[in-house]
Amino acid sequence: MDKLYKMVQGYFKRFPDGVEPFQMVTRLLEECGEVASEVNHFEDAGIKRLKYGEPSKEALASEIKQAVVALMQIVVYYSVQEEFEKSIDDSLRRMKDENLID
Ligand SMILES: [Mg+2]
Repeated sequence: MDKLYKMVQGYFKRFPDGVEPFQMVTRLLEECGEVASEVNHFEDAGIKRLKYGEPSKEALASEIKQAVVALMQIVVYYSVQEEFEKSIDDSLRRMKDENLID
C-alpha cells in the first residue's frame, strides 16, 4: 500500500494539471479498458495474437498497475486512505470469520 501511495504522490507532482476528479475518473476508465484489451489478448479474442504476437505478462501487469494507481489517486484526492484501509481490513476479518482465509 505504501508503494502505491508513493506512486500517487509522484504522479500528482509529475502531472499537477491532471488531478481533477473528471480527469482521474476518465483515466481510470481508460486504464480499465487497457486491462480489458490485455485480457482479450490472453484469451485470444479477435485477431490480437495475429496482429501483436503472444501476449505479455509484463504488459498485463503494467496495465493492472496503471488501473490500480488511477484508483489510488481517487483515494488520495478525497483523503479516504483510512476508510479505504478499514474497508479492506473489515473484508479480511469477515473472510477469516468464514474460514475462507487463514
Ligand atoms: Mg495504460
